[in-house]
Amino acid sequence: MPAKFVLVGSGLAGGLLAAYLGRRGYDVDLYERRADPREGNMVGGRSINLAISTRGIHALEQIGIADESLRHAIPMRGRMIHDRSGALHFAAYDVDPRKCINSIGRASLNAAVIEAAQRYPNVRVHFNHKCTDVDLAEAVCHLEKTGADVEATPAPEIIKVRGDAVIGVDGAFSAVRASMQRNINNFQYEESYLAHGYKELTIPPATDGSWRIEKNALHIWPRKSFMMIALPNPDGSFTCTLFWEFEGPRSFATTKTDDDIRRFFDEEFPDAVSLMPALLEDFKNNPTGSLVTIRSAPWYYRDKVCLLGDAAHAVVPFYGQGMNAAFEDCVVKFPHNRERAFAKYFECRKENADALADLAIGNFIEMRDKTASRTFRAKKKLDHLLEAALPGMYLPLYTMVTFTRIPYAQAARRARLQDRILYTALVTLVVIGILALAVLIARSSRQ
Ligand SMILES: Cc1cc2nc3c(=O)[nH]c(=O)nc-3n(C[C@H](O)[C@H](O)[C@H](O)COP(=O)(O)OP(=O)(O)OC[C@H]3O[C@@H](n4cnc5c(N)ncnc54)[C@H](O)[C@@H]3O)c2cc1C
Repeated sequence: MPAKFVLVGSGLAGGLLAAYLGRRGYDVDLYERRADPREGNMVGGRSINLAISTRGIHALEQIGIADESLRHAIPMRGRMIHDRSGALHFAAYDVDPRKCINSIGRASLNAAVIEAAQRYPNVRVHFNHKCTDVDLAEAVCHLEKTGADVEATPAPEIIKVRGDAVIGVDGAFSAVRASMQRNINNFQYEESYLAHGYKELTIPPATDGSWRIEKNALHIWPRKSFMMIALPNPDGSFTCTLFWEFEGPRSFATTKTDDDIRRFFDEEFPDAVSLMPALLEDFKNNPTGSLVTIRSAPWYYRDKVCLLGDAAHAVVPFYGQGMNAAFEDCVVKFPHNRERAFAKYFECRKENADALADLAIGNFIEMRDKTASRTFRAKKKLDHLLEAALPGMYLPLYTMVTFTRIPYAQAARRARLQDRILYTALVTLVVIGILALAVLIARSSRQ
């Protein structure tokens, strides 16, 4: 008899993992606390669109749904930097103009992975089921039936489902992980919040349905300690995300009235204001989300419970890799012995998840502060020159993270080494230059 997996959470990774397990012939029951996203009931969801790149696309390709999932995705070839005066600077992501990241709708991608899972008759998806606890030793999941029809009843119905293993794919605030925290001695858990929150805003399409700013770019308004970004949507709109301090003299906390909001945007993003007719309503009505990094260990309990995606390793979104990494988790090949498989998966992914967490925080500083500077643009140009001159030998960090499947930790190490070599070479060149100049001066003074 094939093993039975109980999956908790049919978000991006849950749907894809169910498809992978379904293809391997396992019996899969996938429980999701929300209603079916395909019925338009996506409430309280996170970012409307996301950037998908090589790692995520590879995971979709392996299950045969990359083309259909990416049908409406919009390629973004580089960063379009908006300075305060409204001047624009475009910086391609890679020396090869075909290398791009893709803006994709979260809801449609979520629907695509769930549908991929449901193609296998051995996969069943149950919406409106919220996991409240997991009995780790027995692999029994406690679920509360939720949803409009049930909410009216005084006590929600509780059901218990048993699997050979329970997989927590239930996101950053995972209930499965919470059960592990409560019941595993020395379970390591660390959550750290940025002082910044985020708010989504909209640039609607032009009256003819076209994009009002460059469509094939990720737009950034870098403002040192904070920034706004915008990603294109297929309907001609852009979803903007303002990343800003929660507290402080100028922050979400102090910007409440229409005048405050208007003044802040007029000062900081003057070229965007005229494109955002619903700015005041969006700012006041849309929630302010928080940005968390979660590190935990171990990601499994015997052969009974395992964590995957944000449930194991949530990262801040500044490298556009959280979902890509969660998808990459699903691709890991593992032996048939389940405990060994869980252990091997943890061993090979943990170091990389930790490396990605650091890279993601580092990239926040790069995006909000450094992208505006000439030095940054010069370094990117040098990166591209070296990449073209030394193909396969020199790979910029962004390229390795975004356009290859080199493990994140290895990419970070290689980038540090490249930077050291580059720095040494530049210092050596400068020293040789100075020495040559000194010799020339000495010779000319002797003549
Ligand atoms: C603002 C923002 C922008 C981002 N942009 C990008 C990007 O451009 N590129 C990128 O790669 N990543 C991005 N990410 C990260 C990405 O959203 C996550 O890494 C990704 O969603 C992780 O997928 P997941 O399936 O592990 O978790 P989730 O997508 O969070 O899915 C978890 C699912 O579990 C369900 N669930 C939760 N609790 C329970 C419960 N108790 N019982 C049952 N079900 C439950 C939830 O309803 C949900 O459906 C961004 C994140 C944010 C916040």
